[in-house]
Amino acid sequence: MKAVQAVAASRRGVRLLLLACWLAPAFPVRSQTEAKLATADTAVLLAAAERAPKLVLLSGHGQTPWRNQTGEILPAYVERNGERLPLAWRLLHKNLVTPNRVSFIYESQQPHLSLEWIWEARAKSGPVEHRIVIRNLSGVEYWLPMMDSLRVDLQVRAATILRHLYIDKGAGGPTAIGTHLQDIAPGYNWTGWSTTFAHPVAGMPAEIIPWEAVFSPVGEQAGWYAGIESSGRTRINLSRTKVGVISSLGLDPEPGPVLTRLLPGGSFASPTVFIGVFEGGPDGAGNQLRPWVKKVLGSARTWRDPSYPLTVNNSWGGGMNVNEATASKMIADAASLGFEMFHMDAGWFRGVGDWYPNPAKFPHGLDPVVEDAHRHGMRFGLWVDWSQAGLDIQPGALNLRDPKVRDWLVADVAPDWKPQDFKGQTIDLGDPPAHDYAVHETNRIVTDYHLDMLEHDGYVVAQGCTRDDHPHAPPDPGRMSVSHYDGEDIVLGPNSTDVSYHAVEAYYNIQEELRHNHPGLLLEICNDGGRMVDFGSAAHGDYFSITDSYDPLSNRRAFYDASFVLPPAMLETYVDKRPAPHIGNFLYMLRSGMMGWVSVMQDTNEWTPEQHAAARRAIELYKTKLRPLIRDARLYHISPRPDGVNWDGVEYWDPMRRKGAVFAFRGSAGEPEHRFKLMGLDPLSTYRLRFEDGSSPNNTASGAKLMRDGLQLALPAPLTSELVFVSEEVGRIVASGPSETAALRESQSEAW
Ligand SMILES: [Zn+2]
Repeated sequence: MKAVQAVAASRRGVRLLLLACWLAPAFPVRSQTEAKLATADTAVLLAAAERAPKLVLLSGHGQTPWRNQTGEILPAYVERNGERLPLAWRLLHKNLVTPNRVSFIYESQQPHLSLEWIWEARAKSGPVEHRIVIRNLSGVEYWLPMMDSLRVDLQVRAATILRHLYIDKGAGGPTAIGTHLQDIAPGYNWTGWSTTFAHPVAGMPAEIIPWEAVFSPVGEQAGWYAGIESSGRTRINLSRTKVGVISSLGLDPEPGPVLTRLLPGGSFASPTVFIGVFEGGPDGAGNQLRPWVKKVLGSARTWRDPSYPLTVNNSWGGGMNVNEATASKMIADAASLGFEMFHMDAGWFRGVGDWYPNPAKFPHGLDPVVEDAHRHGMRFGLWVDWSQAGLDIQPGALNLRDPKVRDWLVADVAPDWKPQDFKGQTIDLGDPPAHDYAVHETNRIVTDYHLDMLEHDGYVVAQGCTRDDHPHAPPDPGRMSVSHYDGEDIVLGPNSTDVSYHAVEAYYNIQEELRHNHPGLLLEICNDGGRMVDFGSAAHGDYFSITDSYDPLSNRRAFYDASFVLPPAMLETYVDKRPAPHIGNFLYMLRSGMMGWVSVMQDTNEWTPEQHAAARRAIELYKTKLRPLIRDARLYHISPRPDGVNWDGVEYWDPMRRKGAVFAFRGSAGEPEHRFKLMGLDPLSTYRLRFEDGSSPNNTASGAKLMRDGLQLALPAPLTSELVFVSEEVGRIVASGPSETAALRESQSEAW
């Protein structure tokens, strides 16, 4: 243990030394109007010219800095009574520069507005963040046109080969490609969108996790990545000219014109973006970004809980039919298997918007079930679609025929409208009374039902709204379209982006109120599956449902994709019932959902004694051996994306504990044997390999062999799996002396 700590201490020392050495010569700060900001991985040089600020250079360790060719484009005008009033921005020379934050302030005298251009480094490593805040210093209301959060035009030589990485959300089901790698040639022009809808309607394409990376596919595979911390309607555009790569990140300007209201004394803040510089290709980017997400965006309280991520049994195995008796039976069996939380899914309530226990199913309320779970040492979580209104008329129900509630809806419903089993009509949380209702109702639910976890589902972030008395921009009657998809009204018009901007702020506030009022409460983010997998919700919830398809292949695909950019502990897959004629198929099903947060959505009472024994062992292994890796280890994608036919796998490696694991899956066809080339190991060290199912004899191999030739797997039957635990044999060195090995380990273990 002491040796490990010493390595950790020396690593930090090396990091700080490197930081001090490489920043100094790269960025000579020329005047008071220049400032630099840096983490161990990323540095930016910022300049405040008289009329606009500029990101001058973006750099990382040992890389040629990326030079930005254009300054910030500040808003040119605001509107009042339909008239455009030009803005003349001037630097105030009141720059605020600290080691962790740079802020340049501009002002327009008439109309009287200020603009604060902010960069922040909230952790010692990883990316830096940027946002723009515009304040209305006047006594009248203005309308501000849409502005990007970040736009860069990075100089690139025509001969430079670059690759673009972007990732689809798991949404209702993972897309065919999911993880996209494309060459960026001059003329390349790409746009990716993220909303909370992610439906393939009205020509809407598959949606991305709002993030992109651009890197060289050769040499050190160095490059940069950027992402948006918002669950609103955002888009990223990337194009290449003969002399540069241009990227814009921010709120979606289409359909436009997008305007947002600036009340007297009010303000607008562009969604925060982050930008980082990395080496080592996609996994290099991920191994740098994920710890940053955990540290900066994640809840410190949640991560301090050693049981996070939890093992969960979910009631949806029986669909809407859950009741007191079935829940108690499930809890008893789940507890005997070692599950740590019982999660009651849809079906427990009186009706949509009427979030009280259904007396026919729960004649004594939820208390006996919750107490039962707690008595069994399990936590209790509950599904609620709390932004939906229905038709119930009992006290406490959100009835959309109530004139007050009707005004909260994103659109009126037909006279014969009826809710679905667990879906109603969305209320616009951006409307303050609707927000206040949701704050009160979510807090009541958590308090009354003694919840340890609250899952929200459904469209908490509206996009598009037909009301003209909400804080967002009013609808443009001639240009609004309302389409229906899967029981939802999807309103699209020039106010859609602004509606989402206000709804997101309200939603985040509701989540923060819950966290503040109920310390220790876990928040699951679900929106018909993985439609809200983004960095804004990552900062306001504890884990995501990453896809609404629950079969082993969908689970592995959704995990493969999202795990490039988000901590695996936050990535929940639901494991539903699949044919498992042999125990190997059963473990294949379970393990396909056990690489991150696992929720088993089955009535385990239906399992055979053999399946019970296998699941008990798998859950115990998860808690003792896998969870520490899922929380802290580096993650490597050691195969192409799962296709269900061939082999696929992921590798966890924790250089601090010197332990790791390989999840290996054999698809429906493919060879009975396969080699996975491991990553991130020390070529000079020896590693013990333990095959959990005994598919091969335990053995040892050098890091060099495991990385060059691969880890040999042999599985005779299709749709089976193996879990290989890897541990470094301390003191067993293949070649050379200990000091050289330590130095090599040092250099290898750092992201660069
Ligand atoms: Zn509205």
